[in-house]
Amino acid sequence: MDQRTALVTGASSGIGLAIARRLTEDGARVYLTGRRVPELDAAAAQLGPNAIAVPCDVSEAADLDRLFAIIRGDGRPLDVVVANAGLGAAARLQDATEEQYAHVFDVNVKGTLLTVQKSVPLLADGASVILISSSTNRHGAEKMGLYAASKAAVRSLGRTWAAELAPRVRVNVISPGPVVTPATDALAGRLGSTPEQFHESVGATVPLGRMGRPEEIADVAAFLAGPGSSFVTGAEFDVDGGLNQV
Ligand code: NAP
Repeated sequence: MDQRTALVTGASSGIGLAIARRLTEDGARVYLTGRRVPELDAAAAQLGPNAIAVPCDVSEAADLDRLFAIIRGDGRPLDVVVANAGLGAAARLQDATEEQYAHVFDVNVKGTLLTVQKSVPLLADGASVILISSSTNRHGAEKMGLYAASKAAVRSLGRTWAAELAPRVRVNVISPGPVVTPATDALAGRLGSTPEQFHESVGATVPLGRMGRPEEIADVAAFLAGPGSSFVTGAEFDVDGGLNQV
């Protein structure tokens, strides 16, 4: 990734931070976004001088315009865009609210759409766009309806954009299974479990017997970002310990 430029949204924690770390370790200059400024600045400080923090809410078009103006001003095309920022809401059909719907779809779907749409004029020839969906995008799980539907939309958008942006730009989707991050630890708390209890109970449902690590998602993102995947587009990579396959 030497001399390459990347953008990772939602890179102040969890999977996005691991991807940003891996890309900087591989030599890329990486723009990191997130809404909480102290967390974002701390993440960039961890990653060193090739990490550039730009506070940005992906559900706000004006924030993204400001982000892309900064990147354009730096004068280098974007080689890699990772649309990772996302969040969930747990609600059964009968309990789901309009506010939950708007929040989840604004960040996960509109945020992904606007991020990629606004990045297109800055993309280098041969650029790689990576969308982060979820293993929930194609199976039913209680209370996961809004989140799973939003991630199915992300997966679908990846197929269309792969067709629309070929042959100049590749677009692929990573669908992680359960991964240990601040988001899943917070979910454990809401479910009345300790993180350790949650890791054990969820890990037991995964054929490989454990939850994933953010670095394991970053390994696949690094493959999709680099020349080793030069003939891969429109694909979905299940990085889920076998959850959706076995
Ligand atoms: P996380 O640790 O909570 O990190 C989420 C990141 O996204 C944070 O940096 C957060 O920073 C940022 N973010 C949230 N809303 C944002 C917004 N509107 N604009 C910009 N940044 C925003 O979560 P994670 O578990 O790493 O999840 C990362 C992605 O992987 C998400 O798309 C998630 O759906 C997906 N995923 C996770 C799992 C899992 O088990 N962990 C499984 C499948 C898919 P701020 O809050 O400061 O904005």
